Amino acid sequence: MKAMSRMKKYVWMMTAALVATAIEAAPVRVVATVGMVADLVRAVGGDAVEVTTLIGEGIDPHVYKPTRHDVLALSRADMIFYNGLLLEGKMADVLERLGRQGKPVVAVADGLAADVILADGADPRHHDPHVWMDAALWSHAVGKVGEALTAQRPDKAESFQAAAARYRAELLRLDAYIRKIAATIEPSRRVLVTAHDAFHYFGRAYGVEVMGIQGISTESEAGLNDINRLVDALVRRDIRAIFVETSVADRNVRALIEGARARGHEVVIGGSLFSDAMGAAGTYEGTYIGMMDHNAGTVVRALGGRVPEGGFRSWNEETSAP
Ligand code: ZN
Repeated sequence: MKAMSRMKKYVWMMTAALVATAIEAAPVRVVATVGMVADLVRAVGGDAVEVTTLIGEGIDPHVYKPTRHDVLALSRADMIFYNGLLLEGKMADVLERLGRQGKPVVAVADGLAADVILADGADPRHHDPHVWMDAALWSHAVGKVGEALTAQRPDKAESFQAAAARYRAELLRLDAYIRKIAATIEPSRRVLVTAHDAFHYFGRAYGVEVMGIQGISTESEAGLNDINRLVDALVRRDIRAIFVETSVADRNVRALIEGARARGHEVVIGGSLFSDAMGAAGTYEGTYIGMMDHNAGTVVRALGGRVPEGGFRSWNEETSAP
């Protein structure tokens, strides 16, 4: 009988150990609002995370309202990551509520130094949330993700730290690449006109003046005055290419082109940019690096600069032109 009870005890201990291993090995279920944030969490978390994105390809986060299905996914998640600075303006309530209930809810832009965050020109109470448009600035958000994941899974601290360092280095290389190609645009042509004001961080980092038809958020409609003011700028400054965005309707951009044409000035669409949503999942443009590579290459080419064949992916900082 004594042997039997020892056996039972052994079985019980083995079962407990197996259960503990299974719990430990289960990936952290993360829900991220936008693709750029999801990509960041995946890059740092690796196999230890399972990331779901709520706001997909071509969808505008400024006006996105969470569905019942989203709210369910958010409440079931182990952790939630979002950009913050009011990018996901219509989700603020539900995110705050879940945070108050004790769920780890992390705004990746929140940890960035106050002096590098741009203000919303139209509303001084708000900040410009489009921080991912500056790859070097976005690399600072990597640390915040690493810390938050480590708090959840301290056993993985080392692998999170190593992955964060690798990803940060890659983002800084991307930043160097964009600087290099942007510098090939002739100074008088460094003007980026887009559907909404998502590119101020891009402009500050890479030396391009930025004008958006709609403001920082797409919530407020552009008026006739905004269109006329920009048509004036296009004609006066001889701007020849303007850009549409995948997550914003292109009617304002077309109105600008029409307005300029009526005044005898030809403007073309220089390309389509990924501003607040990445490309399709599973494609290069569906990654943060691919989205930035696409945007930078499209802008530089349309404004008359030089982009190496193959873009960032085949760029070698030592040997590649430009
Ligand atoms: Zn935006």
